[in-house]
Amino acid sequence: MLSIKEVKAILRKYNIRPSKYLGQNFLIDQNVQGKIINALDIKRQDTVLEIGPGLGALTDEVCKWAGKVIAIEKDRRLCNFLLQNTSYANLDLFSEDILKYNFGKRRGLKVIGNLPYYITSPILTYLLDNRPSIESIFITVQKEFAQRLVAWPGTKDYSSISCFTQFYAEPEILFNIRRKCFYPVPGVESCFLRINIREKGLFLTNEDKLFKIIRTCFGKRRKTVLNSLSSNSAFGSKEAVEGRLKDIGIDPKRRPETLSIEEFVRINDGLPNPSA
Ligand code: SAM
Repeated sequence: MLSIKEVKAILRKYNIRPSKYLGQNFLIDQNVQGKIINALDIKRQDTVLEIGPGLGALTDEVCKWAGKVIAIEKDRRLCNFLLQNTSYANLDLFSEDILKYNFGKRRGLKVIGNLPYYITSPILTYLLDNRPSIESIFITVQKEFAQRLVAWPGTKDYSSISCFTQFYAEPEILFNIRRKCFYPVPGVESCFLRINIREKGLFLTNEDKLFKIIRTCFGKRRKTVLNSLSSNSAFGSKEAVEGRLKDIGIDPKRRPETLSIEEFVRINDGLPNPSA
């Protein structure tokens, strides 16, 4: 893989100043590269979708093992570099925003990437929205974000993104990555995650309404579940919400961060549909 000297030389040669705006921190640590490639466990039949290949720190190795690699890089300058310096027959490189990528009828994708930190949450949400196309996701993200994804009820990191992710997938932190493994050195520590997509959501329920309830509750973290929900008239009057919560055995005075996904689903099933 490219050393820090080589990365700097390429950036100079192609007149590229790493863009903070695009979250450009390039992996320069061979040990971490090896750990990531091992974790991916790529098979010849795999189609891999790489988000933000940058200078190709992962792309080269992935192309050696996968049947097909689709790489989506927003920065045209980096795409040009990759086009001029890689020649893998199984690589399709697109200069595009991942948030506009059309997954179409693709199935079974392995999605990988050292993600740009500035849009980690929208990217993960977009991937989960397109989950029928995806089998698993392997990403490097900011450590705090990773901790939120795997957080359990009752912890300070537990939030609506924990619920959303755990409803549709099984996130697991595989290892930490130090800042100095990237150039330029980012301001935060990172974690590498595996997120296996569940075949079905965790529970059978009205998912749109469920996530509306979860967002409403976490939007007012310090309030009780009763006060959060009754601040949104769509869920009925305060008295009606209180009655429903008691009927389903949820103490109306509980704080949202103490509620498990299963309890949110019970609330969801117990409250009338907003349009009803
Ligand atoms: N994979 C490379 C590595 O590990 O060295 C680069 C990782 S860097 C943290 C993130 C990469 O994502 C950059 O190459 C950046 O240009 C690209 N990027 C940023 N926003 C993007 C977007 N919306 N869609 C696709 N790529 C994006």
